[in-house]
Amino acid sequence: MKGISKTAHAGFSPLIPAVLVPPEVFTQAPLGFIPPPLNPSGARLETKELAPGVYGLLSSKPPVDNSGFVVGEHGVLVIDAHINGAMAGLIQTAVRQVTNKPILYVVNTNYHGDHTFGNYAFPPETLIVAQQKTAESMRDFEREKRFLLPTVDNDPTVFGDVRLRLPDVVLDEYLELDLGGRVVELYHFGHGNTPGDTVVFVPEARVAWTGNLIAGEGFIPFLIEGGAGAYLETMAKFTHTLEVATIVTGHGLLTSGTILGRYLPYLSELIESVRKAIRAGQNLEEAIAATPLGQQYTKDIAGSDSPLVAQFVAFRVGIHRWNVWRTYQGMKGDPTYRGPEAAYAATHEKNAMFVLG
Ligand SMILES: [Zn+2]
Repeated sequence: MKGISKTAHAGFSPLIPAVLVPPEVFTQAPLGFIPPPLNPSGARLETKELAPGVYGLLSSKPPVDNSGFVVGEHGVLVIDAHINGAMAGLIQTAVRQVTNKPILYVVNTNYHGDHTFGNYAFPPETLIVAQQKTAESMRDFEREKRFLLPTVDNDPTVFGDVRLRLPDVVLDEYLELDLGGRVVELYHFGHGNTPGDTVVFVPEARVAWTGNLIAGEGFIPFLIEGGAGAYLETMAKFTHTLEVATIVTGHGLLTSGTILGRYLPYLSELIESVRKAIRAGQNLEEAIAATPLGQQYTKDIAGSDSPLVAQFVAFRVGIHRWNVWRTYQGMKGDPTYRGPEAAYAATHEKNAMFVLG
């Protein structure tokens, strides 16, 4: 891909600083915010063949995480490790129903525990792959457990078995992994839901896994760490780079590339509305009131029979309030504010040598 360097870096440099962008805890959220229910208890992962050798693993209990895997001549690549050893075991059982080839790679699409806590339950020879910022953020294991607790009914036993397993291979913007007769592409288009969101793409099948970047039908972009302008740029880059047919979202039903057409206007309208509110001297509550969630973003193309429709109404309104809050907070006093990634990039410039080009 033009303008994107193909880089990989095995292992960690001791010079990589600790996490610089602490996520907000859900308890700081504005009124009406509901943490996503991610307790996997009772969830199954249904294997769906999307193309020869390309499989989605769809959770029977959305928004509990989806996963997936791709099979090549030499072995298998798994997308996201799930939240604990039991769920990582379900992923491996699903792989074993299709092939006996080794699991060569597990890619973490972001640092959150529901995507990474299962890493430890994969064989030691499996390489864990993640974007550099994702790998760095994963180091604060205890904080992530605290962060996830409200999403699993405040039951710490959900991830009581988990041991931290960090990535072995780190990418910057792009990495190709050859499974033998099949190449899987990893893209980091910029800050989105987290600073290190990664899209996994199988070009010949035009299937993408998007993690939290596109969490699912019924979701809107979730600015968990702010940075509406950067998220918008990231989505624009995604749209211009990949022609996606099928998307295995991080937390919802299977969808198509058309969902991108709703993410872009949502973000630009959010930015415009909050900017207008700040210019008009409105406080946060007034800005929230002046930025209602547009009806076009509450229509679920999954259909009215989708189990997600009723479940997501309150959840989505809460996410929207969160988004307005974070955008307002980010812009207040500085309408050119782009999000935490700007400061992050500045701090990291001097450490650019970690990425071997
Ligand atoms: Zn997630």
